[in-house]
Amino acid sequence: MDLRELTALELGALLRSGEVTCAQAAAASRAAIAAAQPDNNAFLTVAEGPAPAPDLAASPLAGVPMAYKDNICTKGMPTTCASKILGNFTPCYDAAAAERLRRAGAVSMGKLNMDEFAMGSTSETSFYGPVKNPWDLSRSPGGSSGGAAAAVAAGEVWYAVGSDTGGSIRQPASHCGVTGMKPTYGAVSRYGLVAYASSLDQLGPIARSAADCAAVLDIMMGRDARDPTSLDLPAGGLLAALTGRLRGKKIGLPRQCFGDGLEDAVRAAVLAAAGVLKERGAQLEWFDLPVMSYAVPAYYVIACAEASSNLARFDGVRYGWRAEGGGDLETLYRRTRTEGFGSEVRRRILLGTFVLSAGYYDAYYKRALRARAAIGQAFGRAFQKYDLLLTPVAPAAAPRLGESLSDPLKMYLSDVYTVPANLAGLPALSMPCGFDGDGLPIGAQLLGPAGGELAVLDAAHAFQQETDWHKRRPPARKTAERSPSPAEPERKGGSL
Ligand code: GLN
Repeated sequence: MDLRELTALELGALLRSGEVTCAQAAAASRAAIAAAQPDNNAFLTVAEGPAPAPDLAASPLAGVPMAYKDNICTKGMPTTCASKILGNFTPCYDAAAAERLRRAGAVSMGKLNMDEFAMGSTSETSFYGPVKNPWDLSRSPGGSSGGAAAAVAAGEVWYAVGSDTGGSIRQPASHCGVTGMKPTYGAVSRYGLVAYASSLDQLGPIARSAADCAAVLDIMMGRDARDPTSLDLPAGGLLAALTGRLRGKKIGLPRQCFGDGLEDAVRAAVLAAAGVLKERGAQLEWFDLPVMSYAVPAYYVIACAEASSNLARFDGVRYGWRAEGGGDLETLYRRTRTEGFGSEVRRRILLGTFVLSAGYYDAYYKRALRARAAIGQAFGRAFQKYDLLLTPVAPAAAPRLGESLSDPLKMYLSDVYTVPANLAGLPALSMPCGFDGDGLPIGAQLLGPAGGELAVLDAAHAFQQETDWHKRRPPARKTAERSPSPAEPERKGGSL
């Protein structure tokens, strides 16, 4: 049996029944990582030493190999945020989510590559070289949790934990043909997640099915005193509550999400997914959501503003890398931050500092906050009428590597369908729903009201009972297809 064909829950069941041992599962994961890493560069650190032997009764996922995006603090294992500035940082504590997963018997295989500090949509801004899409190695896997999506798609781990500030779980899941979910803001504690934009950041799962995502969320969700924004939503019970029933559910399709700029293949695949949901008994309706046009500008103003404040702590004194050469304190700060951050991170810090500056605060930051409030209200009204909303995840399938770096504005605009859920704090899931003419996966997004995790997961579960897009795997590695990789900087302070 090829264990890599299984979902996380299927593997968990085999581990509990004793048909497969934890050592066999970990060995299969290690072998898959060793085979795929030279191609896709999904991992930044691979766990060494013997696999732990967890209590298999701890959760349905106990013993199942998984991995974390490298902005999630893991005790004793480097956490670099794919940045030079944190190249030598090894946390002495676990993030709350990692702590809960460890208690539930999760077996961590290591840390996953990403855009530097989660800023990007293609996983190309990593200091440690870009991640490549297992479906086509000349393409980006999406981002910023590109390593997480690529590792799950390539069968290296059965699920991964990523972060989503403006789409970073859902968009790479879409580009790699896997299922990813950003829960309601506050559903999962952000304690130990290196902050990008604190009012938007959320942790969530990337896995092979909606049921797997439910199982991971059952473990990670819940109030945590160390994150005052974490919510007291009912923890656990999502997996057990999945019914696959859609009868009587009303699903709204915002017209503005299917207009200009959307590739025909994506529109066709998402509308076909709508058709499947209708056959399962859902009522579909088009409606207008004009606030969509404010989403990208408001998101980039707010995200950059918060990033400029959050990233002020990386100054060469308290954490990570420090520029050599001495000089006074100002010089040390300037040189450390100029040399330690990549250009996308520096661009966002500058933009964020600008929109917060006294002369421009009202014109940019305050207006963005007003747009954010309007977006939240518009979604609130939509959820008075509809149980769920259905949209595309991204305007097109995975871009070619190198394309977006030269045109950051185009990259920002491609986040149009994912950023509203973060601005409004809503749960949203990306599920595979087809392929484009180049054989690249396409995803559909389901959004629910705050706290509506179950409705979102159940609709995706219903869809996945009816379709097999989520079961498709990338073709086995074809070395001839390997694209020439751009010069990759040498990694400092990790095991790869
Ligand atoms: N692409 C978006 C950005 O660059 C979202 C990133 C994220 O969700 N971390 O900010």
